[in-house]
Amino acid sequence: MDTTSVEPDTRPVVQVAYVASLELMKVSSLLPSNKNRSALVHTLARSLGLFSRNFSSMRTIALVPPQSAGFAELNTYHTKDYLDFVLDPRNVKSGDDGTKTELGLEDDCPPFEGMADYVRLVGGASLTAVKALQQPRCELAICWDGGRHHAQKSQAAGFCYVADCTLALMALRRLTEQGPQAGPARKMRTMYLDLDLHFSDGVSHAFHQTTTGSPHLLTFSIHHAAPGFFPASALASLPTADSDPFTLSLPLQPGASNRTFARAWQSVERVHAAFNPDYVVVQCGVDGLAGDPCAVFNWSLGPEEGSLGWCVGRVVNEWRGKKLLLGGGGYDSPNAARAWAYLTSVALGNPLSPDLSIPDHDHFPLYAPSFVLDVPAGNMQDQNSDEYLETVKQTFDGVATVIAERMTK
Ligand SMILES: [Zn+2]
Repeated sequence: MDTTSVEPDTRPVVQVAYVASLELMKVSSLLPSNKNRSALVHTLARSLGLFSRNFSSMRTIALVPPQSAGFAELNTYHTKDYLDFVLDPRNVKSGDDGTKTELGLEDDCPPFEGMADYVRLVGGASLTAVKALQQPRCELAICWDGGRHHAQKSQAAGFCYVADCTLALMALRRLTEQGPQAGPARKMRTMYLDLDLHFSDGVSHAFHQTTTGSPHLLTFSIHHAAPGFFPASALASLPTADSDPFTLSLPLQPGASNRTFARAWQSVERVHAAFNPDYVVVQCGVDGLAGDPCAVFNWSLGPEEGSLGWCVGRVVNEWRGKKLLLGGGGYDSPNAARAWAYLTSVALGNPLSPDLSIPDHDHFPLYAPSFVLDVPAGNMQDQNSDEYLETVKQTFDGVATVIAERMTK
């Protein structure tokens, strides 16, 4: 990817940092669960003209190459034992099997050629996005190669080898603890919102509080949860009176459609208003979209109320503060490319039409048979009943009240 052609922009408009480089695209394309997906994502975005200075009159895009994360940066969350193993390329072929098992590097997370570079660069990409947000004019950063929300401190899990979401949130927490020079009237707050089909176990467990303080980091995951559905976690169910109000889960039943997400979104808004964050990190996993091989939800891309694009539009246009958009799951690669290109256009304040034809480019044949941008809903029945969605609403109304009370302490 050519990142040298972007000239400094002097227009007094909001800047969107899009983290990408040819090297990042190459290593991300090696990820066993999502081979070549990154190449599709960035080449579609380019072919749609999203990287053009004139794409939007509202916000300008700046392509920002990622810095590779060093051992010390990765070690702020990951253990030394995990990093010693994944960062040594010799271990891909000759690593000890017992150690691989211990570190989760088997089954859905096999060691792969390029793993060390992948971990350094994807971890570094999300940290680069956090750094970009420190520029006064930069209000939004995008890192579609990030969003690896299942990776644990000392283990790979669920196709995730590096906990870039957690690393980015920790970096934001360090920054906001220091505070800007002028000094805020109150400590800054960060909300992590996870829209992936799967529960954000890696991130939620990392920040889960068992004591009753008034934390400045809140995690909120909307996902499917059921016995036997990955990942198994006690934190993946609806909040209770005893649970941590800053580690939130909103499980949905199969077939969740725009209608269900529009109802669930009311709870997201209530929690957001009560918490009032300064930074919002959104994991935009797209495996809940219709057509994904996971085939659990029946969500569509946009722009109807409740669609993925509508939800992300609410965050980037209606919520105050700075936002970081990350990628995540999504196992139909052309659909993931469609979704993240569309969300990029939403972030730039100039949403593309879902009816737009896919431009002729290297990967064009993969967009058959529709050859348009949209990811429409299918025929799956929405199993989220009115009764269940009312329970969700009442539960989160209660949670929002508790959060509001806790934040005034
Ligand atoms: Zn997922």
